[in-house]
Amino acid sequence: MSRNLLQSRWEHLSESVVRKLQAEQLQRYLRTAVLPFSAYYGKLFQEQGLKGESFCRLEDLQRIPFTSKSDLLSTAERPERFKEFILVPDPGVLARRPATILRALVHGRQRVKQDFEAEFRPIFATFTTGRSAEPIPCFFTARDLDRLATAGRRLVEVCAARPGDRLLNTLPFAPHLAFWLAHYAGTAGGVLTLSSGGGKVMGTEGNIRHIRKFKPDVLIGIPTFVYHLLHQAAEEGARCENLRRIVLGGEKVSDGLRLKLRELALELGARNVDIVATYGFTEAKLAWSECPAPHGEPSSGYHLYPDLGIMEVIDPRTGETLPSGRPGELVFTPLEARGTVVLRYRTGDYADGGLTYEPCPYCGRRLPRLLGNISRRSEIKQVDFDKIKGTLVDFNELEHLLDDAPHIGAWQVELRKINDDPLELDELILHVQKVNGADEGQLRRELTERCARHIEIHPNRILFHNADEIRRLQGVGRLLKEEKLVDHRPKAHAVERQDNSRPVTVNGNGCVESNLEKQL
Ligand SMILES: [Zn+2]
Repeated sequence: MSRNLLQSRWEHLSESVVRKLQAEQLQRYLRTAVLPFSAYYGKLFQEQGLKGESFCRLEDLQRIPFTSKSDLLSTAERPERFKEFILVPDPGVLARRPATILRALVHGRQRVKQDFEAEFRPIFATFTTGRSAEPIPCFFTARDLDRLATAGRRLVEVCAARPGDRLLNTLPFAPHLAFWLAHYAGTAGGVLTLSSGGGKVMGTEGNIRHIRKFKPDVLIGIPTFVYHLLHQAAEEGARCENLRRIVLGGEKVSDGLRLKLRELALELGARNVDIVATYGFTEAKLAWSECPAPHGEPSSGYHLYPDLGIMEVIDPRTGETLPSGRPGELVFTPLEARGTVVLRYRTGDYADGGLTYEPCPYCGRRLPRLLGNISRRSEIKQVDFDKIKGTLVDFNELEHLLDDAPHIGAWQVELRKINDDPLELDELILHVQKVNGADEGQLRRELTERCARHIEIHPNRILFHNADEIRRLQGVGRLLKEEKLVDHRPKAHAVERQDNSRPVTVNGNGCVESNLEKQL
């Protein structure tokens, strides 16, 4: 009964009710699905002396040790660790349950068997895109795909898209969560969806053709690509008057970029476009969205679904769970997921506004929301990618300051060594697309001053490019995901590359990945 309440009233419940219902659901989930059928957690709980019954209040969740990406990576002794996280049912345990016996009596054994197949048999997978040597698969059962469809439908609702809208999905065709969530958002949300596969599949031209002919009301994509697409479409005089929403995934979205996208949309004749960002990660097997904010007002944060998972914010140093409103690292525990299940997953993502349960000031929904910017801080520190010219650089900050800078469009940061000598000093080269006829000398001074103020280093060179040149540099139409930061330092190659032809890049979340990994 309470589970139905959490599902049916997911956007209308107060904090105390959410916490109470989540605690009940967590206990049932652990008792009936995770502990009996997860090799990893069955063992871990036994070692910790924990049972499903140990979880009565939501605070009890904190008794479960964290799981992080490194726990999922294969080692020489355990070459397929990801398999330990897949729920594998024991038919004997299932057959002895009174609920199973009752269902078999009412519906017949065949039907019960089919239901268990749908619940537990993995039939679909997505892969992580991070810097890990090999992408980690994350499995979905038919029940998980229903859950993904639910998340997709809610994303459409929260974004305030309407049935009858046309949705152009430009996320790259790939076994990545973002693409499939957009697919399910369209189909489950009852919105006519066209997935173009992004720049690599049909080029910017092919996507512009869809903008002209399909005339989407909603455009989904990675911010860097969407920027290029709209810029080129505007240059070519394309029109798309009915565009109302731009939904962005896969990278962080700064206020400056929102403004620039809105201006470009205006050039296409779209007068009232809302820019909506989403946040998700492979292990959650779903993603969350902002609701449209009045123009010029700050985002009201990512709207979470309390029946599909529990989000905690922790102090990344002590691991302590923090109260509402405090910034910290995000830790996620799914509810009712099957297939791959990871509990208390440390995302390495840091939300600088924390979690709130206050009603949303814009849409009025009552649900947990994640506030402020989300940056992938811990990832950066781990990979020794943080020093440029001997100074610790926060790539999230660098990305924000460039996105927010006036008079520039797309950009790319290139790191080199002087004369390509590994022992030489680092060089930071800023490639920028100048817009609105700005004066080069003035712009150079402004950008240098911005970099010095925010990240305490001066670019060695600032090179100006036209739209075509910057597209080529970023690999628009060539790569699955455009490159905003390239590291051509020989030393970095030795550490991070397996061969010298694969540049190491940092994606929009500050997460280092290689081209090869991005294409998987
Ligand atoms: Zn809202």
